[in-house]
Amino acid sequence: MNNYQIQWEYLQLAWQKGRTPPAMLFSGAFNPSLKSFIVQYTQLVFCRNNESKPCQLCIDCQMAAQVQHPDEIWVKPEKFGGSIKIDQIRELQNYIYLMPQRAKHQIIIITAADRLNSSAANALLKILEEPAKHTLFLLLAEQLGTVLPTVLSRCQILRFPPKNDLSVNFLTLADQYPEETEYSVLINQAEPILDGLIDIMEEKIHPCVMAAQWMHFELNTFLWFIYWVYAQVQMMLIQHQSVTGPAANQFKKLASLLNPVSVFAQIDKINSLKRKLNHNQNVNHALALEHLLFSLQEDRYGKNSTNKLCP
Ligand SMILES: [Zn+2]
Repeated sequence: MNNYQIQWEYLQLAWQKGRTPPAMLFSGAFNPSLKSFIVQYTQLVFCRNNESKPCQLCIDCQMAAQVQHPDEIWVKPEKFGGSIKIDQIRELQNYIYLMPQRAKHQIIIITAADRLNSSAANALLKILEEPAKHTLFLLLAEQLGTVLPTVLSRCQILRFPPKNDLSVNFLTLADQYPEETEYSVLINQAEPILDGLIDIMEEKIHPCVMAAQWMHFELNTFLWFIYWVYAQVQMMLIQHQSVTGPAANQFKKLASLLNPVSVFAQIDKINSLKRKLNHNQNVNHALALEHLLFSLQEDRYGKNSTNKLCP
């Protein structure tokens, strides 16, 4: 039943010994397995009948299974792919010191902790620095690199790496995102987007033309998407993994055009752009996209394209 046995055993042991960290950060993709793991953790904390394993029968276990226990508070971005606002963190101040309604603890679950802007992250830090005894914090982050280090240092980090499936294709992530979100829209258009990247590298299309066509994608989500594309290519290059499934032909072509160093360079650029966006620094959408696509040619041909500008 449990995909994350090691992490689960750790939590059980900590709970039994009364040593559950007041703040934890779960790092991994927020997929159905992680979601059910979180439900299980809330049941562990709320269950009336059992100390080491949720009974699944008591009212508290059942409410937690429905994600409707009165002592669990979820803080989520208002829109999918967005970030949590400072007001949402400030609101937390109003109830973290109130006593739980049914259980001995309340759990505050903050999703997208890697997408807090710096003022929201600092407000959260203040709360984490003076925790109420009965409050347990759980932060969720897909990438640790964009979480404020001071926040990280307050949390016990548990990693939830993807399963080491040899034929993994990151585009199958689409199954884990609700339809109609920008994430699944992008993944469903993976083939034409990957074709576009290939055309840029083969100099069949100008980066400016491609950038203009992709401007309608929300930048952060688009970066998230191509991050996974390069992560996939890197795995193929370094671990000599084969790929099956969505856009397999395009992935093979990309892997033949790129080398590990140029892929690292792209991932690096994507991460630094994402950091800027997450910290609300001014990023010009068109310019950022154009530079990224120019740099793809640059990394491949060793050309200096810093002076190139789109009309
Ligand atoms: Zn129970």
